[in-house]
Amino acid sequence: MPDFDLVVIGGGSGGMAAARRAAAHGAKVALVEAGRLGGTCVNVGCVPKKVMFNAASVAESLDEAPDYGFSLTRSGFDLARLKRSRDDVVSKLNAIYQRNLEVDGVELVRGWARLHAEGVAVGDRVLHTPHTLIATGGRPRVPGIPGAQLGITSDQFFELDALPERVAIVGGGYIGVELAGIFRALGSQVTVILRGQQLLKEFDTTLRETLLDEMTKSGVEVVAHCELAEVLRRRTGDLELRGTRGQVHAGFDCLLWAVGREPNTESLALSERGIEASPEGFVSVDAYQNTSAPGVYAVGDVTGQRQLTPVAIAAGRKLADRVFGGNPESKLCYDNIPSVVFSHPPIGSVGLTEEEARATFGETVKCYTSTFRNLYYSVTSNKPVTVVKLVTVGATEKVVGIHVIGKSADELIQGFSVALVMGATKADLDRTVAIHPTAAEELVTLR
Ligand SMILES: Cc1cc2nc3c(=O)[nH]c(=O)nc-3n(C[C@H](O)[C@H](O)[C@H](O)COP(=O)(O)OP(=O)(O)OC[C@H]3O[C@@H](n4cnc5c(N)ncnc54)[C@H](O)[C@@H]3O)c2cc1C
Repeated sequence: MPDFDLVVIGGGSGGMAAARRAAAHGAKVALVEAGRLGGTCVNVGCVPKKVMFNAASVAESLDEAPDYGFSLTRSGFDLARLKRSRDDVVSKLNAIYQRNLEVDGVELVRGWARLHAEGVAVGDRVLHTPHTLIATGGRPRVPGIPGAQLGITSDQFFELDALPERVAIVGGGYIGVELAGIFRALGSQVTVILRGQQLLKEFDTTLRETLLDEMTKSGVEVVAHCELAEVLRRRTGDLELRGTRGQVHAGFDCLLWAVGREPNTESLALSERGIEASPEGFVSVDAYQNTSAPGVYAVGDVTGQRQLTPVAIAAGRKLADRVFGGNPESKLCYDNIPSVVFSHPPIGSVGLTEEEARATFGETVKCYTSTFRNLYYSVTSNKPVTVVKLVTVGATEKVVGIHVIGKSADELIQGFSVALVMGATKADLDRTVAIHPTAAEELVTLR
């Protein structure tokens, strides 16, 4: 007789969502968590990151306030104080998550879980179950070069209680550019070091080029084609970064690795159940989140699929609906997932990039682009651009991609994603009356 209908390993976005949905369907559920409830998103991801993005936006507004007639100057940023308030927000969320499990009747088991022939083992306890969900997420990768331990990762970014003066950020993915923008806006000197030439390699070229331009204009130094070979601490106390081709970049009091994330799988003993993984260790799953072992599933970052909180949540809920909710076809569609990069300026994007659309649809692709200055910047000396781009396909000009960079891009993309997912055409956008004066109106007035 099993102890539980479902045992979930990991109390982050995906694990919590699946456990609670399965319990709502009447399943007896245990959730095993080794760290703080809420996982990456709540503790060292989306939530504290957005607080820092907001702090950076406040700093920018203070810089722009004189242009709007206010006689104030920006001074005295106290990161330690902000950290205390931010930590309080996170602690409250940890408590809410725990209460939600109690209310839903999910048993919380504290400790490191590993797979077992009859379910899941935590220390000496074996939780017998026919259904196991791996939702163990991931952690920041640190390269294996000499001196790498002198750097921090995004996890330790949230432990800082003073702003470094000169920061080197290695990596141009979304975490790298977000943290670069935050540091810069708050007052650090920032150098971003790229192995290749481009930021955000999965995004539309127009967005990537505009962001690179705006980051450079804001004072971020971007060093391309630099693969690091070694990190040293000089006698003066600052960090020296040496590239594989002899390049030297020095004078940093903080180095932050943003070179990708790796899955939390080694303590699970995947081989105990014969579970297949990719060469990088991500758990392999089919479209229904099944692993190669019957009755064992995986969702979220540990699968290497789109590494976003709402994706982990949606996949977890769909899985619970399938296994316990009597909906055998329930599965997450991974197409057209919108995403935002909280860079400075922010990016909102959904659907195919122009390059992807051309690779699939060739000559039938038509793009519409508009570059303008948001009215907000009409009176400020700082004048970042906004760029909106529609990618359409075929004679009907079906919209297959929407890409925006600029003030408010983060908020406007969600609604436009609905239109894209519903199959909107360019004509549908054109017959929608504009809301003036907004940045969003540009998407319904493109010529
Ligand atoms: C700096 C940063 C910013 C981000 N910003 C955003 C954003 O703005 N928007 C967005 O959508 N996404 C963002 N993300 C991504 C988002 O946080 C993840 O996609 C999401 O948290 C993945 O959820 P998950 O359930 O797969 O894993 P996680 O949330 O990582 O949860 C996994 C949990 O499993 C636990 N665990 C691991 N192994 C074991 C074990 N053996 N036994 C027991 N417990 C175990 C861990 O302690 C952890 O709590 C960000 C990530 C980072 C790092």
